[in-house]
Amino acid sequence: MSDETISTKILIIGAGPAGYTAAIYAARASLAPVLVAGLEPGGQLTVTTDVENYPGFADPVQGPWLMEQMALQAGKVGTRIEYDVITSVDFSHRPFTATGDSGRIYRADSVVIATGASARWLGLPSETRLRGAGVSACATCDGFFYRGREVAVVGGGNTAVEEALYLTHHASKVTLIHRRDSLRAEKILQDRLFAEPRIEVIWDHVVDEVLGGGSPETVRGLKLRHVGTGAFREIAVDGMFVAIGHDPATSLFRGQIDMDAEGYITTVPGTARTSVPGVFAAGDVQDRVYRQAVTAAGTGCMAALEAEKFLAGAALGARQAA
Ligand code: NAP
Repeated sequence: MSDETISTKILIIGAGPAGYTAAIYAARASLAPVLVAGLEPGGQLTVTTDVENYPGFADPVQGPWLMEQMALQAGKVGTRIEYDVITSVDFSHRPFTATGDSGRIYRADSVVIATGASARWLGLPSETRLRGAGVSACATCDGFFYRGREVAVVGGGNTAVEEALYLTHHASKVTLIHRRDSLRAEKILQDRLFAEPRIEVIWDHVVDEVLGGGSPETVRGLKLRHVGTGAFREIAVDGMFVAIGHDPATSLFRGQIDMDAEGYITTVPGTARTSVPGVFAAGDVQDRVYRQAVTAAGTGCMAALEAEKFLAGAALGARQAA
């Protein structure tokens, strides 16, 4: 255990596109940021393969590679990256404090929360085994790879319906599998779904197993179970998109900062400002709708620019009071 204390003008918690972008902008503003990388440096992109929608690359890049580049860039411009996991924070007064798993204390005049979110999975061993080989939780990221093929989407909320509709731009057929006999998604989305001839809905079923085949193994089909009768059936698909919700990584901040009922940090619309002056939030931790690497990077930039302005204002206030 370390008993070191690290003081910084700006502490960035999280090492996905939002955190690294905030770090790059803060470092270039001479704020000498400290970024604590957490349990999964690189975030959700480290479990993605080809990335084709991040601007600037004409050919697909690998998610882990893209995150390495962001980390290198953040370090090169002057970010101190700490491989530590924040276990508690105190935002009740400034400087704010955060305590790391290492025992280190971080004292910061401002904080950017960029801890991200993670997709909920069904929890099947076959789903885990075939993740990245036909199992995905992001149609926008991976839908393109299913041009002319048949895919399934699991879930009955807005995300599942939007993903199913999006996938019709690529796939020849989309099967939506829902565990009940009615959808939770908004009516307007349901209307669009039911009007789309390439989408079939299988009601009252859950996925019992993802069926793989070939070498290397990829998804070939799904074994479904009727929730009422328990009867099994199989469907042939090349991909399964799980759309049963996301969980923002915010339990650490509960009670310290305003969040909505599902744990997403509340920001002032059009800004990265949270309910605590000097604490900013960027990326998926405050975004339930877009959830893209590029939007996370954009809000990371906003958070750093706003932190810079906040720190300049705080410094001016201190000088005037002196
Ligand atoms: P959600 O609304 O929580 O829906 C999750 C869906 O997954 C539900 O239909 C649920 O079934 C199903 N589900 C959950 N666990 C499951 C399991 N283990 N097995 C099978 N099915 C399971 O999640 P979401 O669709 O990601 O939306 C999250 C929030 O973001 C919502 O508030 C949504 O309105 C919002 N959102 C808005 C937009 C938009 O405005 N355009 C777009 C996307 C999301 P049950 O229905 O049976 O519970």
